[in-house]
Amino acid sequence: MNRQQYDADIVVVGAGPSGLVCAYEAVLAGARVVNLEKRSGPTWSRAGTLYPRVLEIFRSRGVAQRLLDRAFEIQGDPISRFGVWGGMQPLNYTALDTPYPYVVMMPQIETEKVLGECLAEIGGDVRLQHEVTGLTQDADGVTVDFIDGDGVSGSLRARYVVGADGRQSSVRNILGVAFPGHEAQRIAVNVDANIELPFDHPTNSFFNDIGWGMAYPLRKGLTRFVVIDKKTMDDGRPTPPDADAALEMLRRVHGTDYGITSIHQITQFGDATYCAERLRVGWAFLVGESVRVHYPASGIGMQFCIQDAFNLGWKLGKVATGQSPAALLDSFEEERLPEIHRMLDMIRQQTALQFRFDEEANALKTYFRDKLLPLPDVNRMLCEDLSGLSARYASSGVESAVSGLRMPPIPVAGEYETALDLSTQGQFVLLDLTGADVSRMTSPHPQIALAGTIGPADHPALAGLGCVFLRPDGHVAWTSSEGLGSFDVEMLDGWLLPEDASRTAVARRS
Ligand SMILES: Cc1cc2nc3c(=O)[nH]c(=O)nc-3n(C[C@H](O)[C@H](O)[C@H](O)COP(=O)(O)OP(=O)(O)OC[C@H]3O[C@@H](n4cnc5c(N)ncnc54)[C@H](O)[C@@H]3O)c2cc1C
Repeated sequence: MNRQQYDADIVVVGAGPSGLVCAYEAVLAGARVVNLEKRSGPTWSRAGTLYPRVLEIFRSRGVAQRLLDRAFEIQGDPISRFGVWGGMQPLNYTALDTPYPYVVMMPQIETEKVLGECLAEIGGDVRLQHEVTGLTQDADGVTVDFIDGDGVSGSLRARYVVGADGRQSSVRNILGVAFPGHEAQRIAVNVDANIELPFDHPTNSFFNDIGWGMAYPLRKGLTRFVVIDKKTMDDGRPTPPDADAALEMLRRVHGTDYGITSIHQITQFGDATYCAERLRVGWAFLVGESVRVHYPASGIGMQFCIQDAFNLGWKLGKVATGQSPAALLDSFEEERLPEIHRMLDMIRQQTALQFRFDEEANALKTYFRDKLLPLPDVNRMLCEDLSGLSARYASSGVESAVSGLRMPPIPVAGEYETALDLSTQGQFVLLDLTGADVSRMTSPHPQIALAGTIGPADHPALAGLGCVFLRPDGHVAWTSSEGLGSFDVEMLDGWLLPEDASRTAVARRS
């Protein structure tokens, strides 16, 4: 079947952060993508943060500043240089080698709004009030069944389908992907109150022998108070507490109810943990919360969902449009499932401490907070891990400190500021690090941009390197100790299909 015989190249089920990012990447690669979303409008805001790696991802597509502008519009001062680990707040993100050495406080609902606008601008097609009810796969693709807002049934035929439909994922259930894990045993509560933040800093967390607490602004006039109440945390409540009970929890744990008289919303969330055994079945893929459920320790859940969606989106887009070989899609599960397991372990390490309030546990937490976490190497490692900056994928070429990691944000020659900015259209990049004039060279493939540094690159992780081959997501796929002339066109196998006769070695124009 040729592409035009399908209604879309890719149907993405869900238009939460994962669905929007995945669709954006695929549309950028030239794919025809339809998002089917059962909601009729915005939903309850869960995530309240944007982390450094996610901001870098958005920067690499030219949209980070838009999100930052929106965050500043909503909150005035949304930047927190400090982060939480295990409910403790000594992490200092300024240690990171990134243009965004901080956590931005931004309600998920606003992040989704900006991402939705960006997707619409490049030709995305998000259909609200379309609930997916079934899908079938055959040799040529998938048929996705839905019911629209008027109760009318329909179906779309596509080459690929992506389940970005959250923790109850219909796609995962229909595919029969195993989802082992356990239900919540302990519960935390959010009280979103119509009150200005009573602290002089955007976040503030503490623990004592009766629980844990934190507060941060959601937007002007609306503050989120989070509480783990040792007395009630394992009651197994199916629904959130009412206003009286929630305020009582605040008085018990925070020591005050802050004079709250008007509550916008009370929600609860627990330490339920699940993880899908597979991320792919045939033409169908799973991303985001359809793949995992966990306690939102450190506020990293959406960050990792977005990184999964980013990883899948460009690959699907390039394969669906015939630019890359289908085998590229195998690397999605190979690369992201281990990262998801690593992230779930990071969550477990934190909940092991955060939900314990006996004398021994509090002594250990105090030791972590005051002695261990502030150690510079520990601090940097945790900030990198929580941000997703330590994700390292398979790579080839000479061994180096950056192999497989995302390229550090070194300055580059020409119109762009840093190496993070070289792939705004989602292209592969060959980056010379010797200071050679790349404007006089010819790329080995139309899908590969050439770039260079201003003089030899000066970064400890790049010592001994002459050039790097960057994937569209900014990860280093190949390294050489020599300049661009050393690029081996065989390297393209697995990444890009040959295009006409243009696949040649890097050539110097006369
Ligand atoms: C209390 C709490 C606080 C959190 N705080 C943070 C934080 O500070 N930072 C952070 O990074 N993360 C945080 N998270 C996690 C974050 O909210 C999730 O990781 C994120 O929402 C996952 O995005 P998603 O797109 O994968 O799924 P979702 O946001 O759940 O989106 C799935 C979408 O699919 C749609 N859908 C479902 N079924 C169908 C269907 N059959 N047909 C069509 N559409 C369908 C849904 O309507 C929904 O819009 C928090 C989570 C909780 C619970």
